[in-house]
Amino acid sequence: MERHFFPPPTEALRETLKKLPGIGPRSALRLVQHLMRHPALLADLAGALTQVAAEVDVCPACGFWKEKSQPLCPICADPRRDEPALCVVREVSDLIAIEQAGAFRGHYHVLGGVLDPLAGIGEKDLRLESLWKRLREGLYQEVILALGTSPEAETTAYYIVRALSDWPGKVTRFASGIPVGTDLSYVDTLTLVRSLRNRQPFQV
Ligand SMILES: [Zn+2]
Repeated sequence: MERHFFPPPTEALRETLKKLPGIGPRSALRLVQHLMRHPALLADLAGALTQVAAEVDVCPACGFWKEKSQPLCPICADPRRDEPALCVVREVSDLIAIEQAGAFRGHYHVLGGVLDPLAGIGEKDLRLESLWKRLREGLYQEVILALGTSPEAETTAYYIVRALSDWPGKVTRFASGIPVGTDLSYVDTLTLVRSLRNRQPFQV
């Protein structure tokens, strides 16, 4: 019924905002209201969205973000990153957390989630094929599993370890110290650095 009096562009904005995670109809309306009250913010947001859509996409190697004009993201393209280790993380936010801790000089692989049959997330939904492909290229001697501590993350870690049983390198995981069920991006830097430095061989 609101559709009869909402200016259509504001209705379209609200409908789009509603598709974002954690935003319901009320929050979407509140955001539209806030943006209408702050035209400069609205213009900045519009500009930022347009720019990201036009100029940024996903790194084909690791799954992080990169500028479309570049073949790889800055991390994959950096020749100084010579640690022969591939750190497998769930999401880009985990990569950012580890990167900001500044203790890792290898490369990352963003899976894009973890196996979660109840949520309908299977092997095909994750960036697993590209992980196997990267590892077959022989550039890495170690895979570090940094998927977090949820039951789904554990299942995924075991799945990867089993799939890599013939791979000649070693598979390690972050040392304990990260509370069960915690997102890596919420873990403090010191704990992250410690978990990375004290990483353990993955025992199946
Ligand atoms: Zn990359």
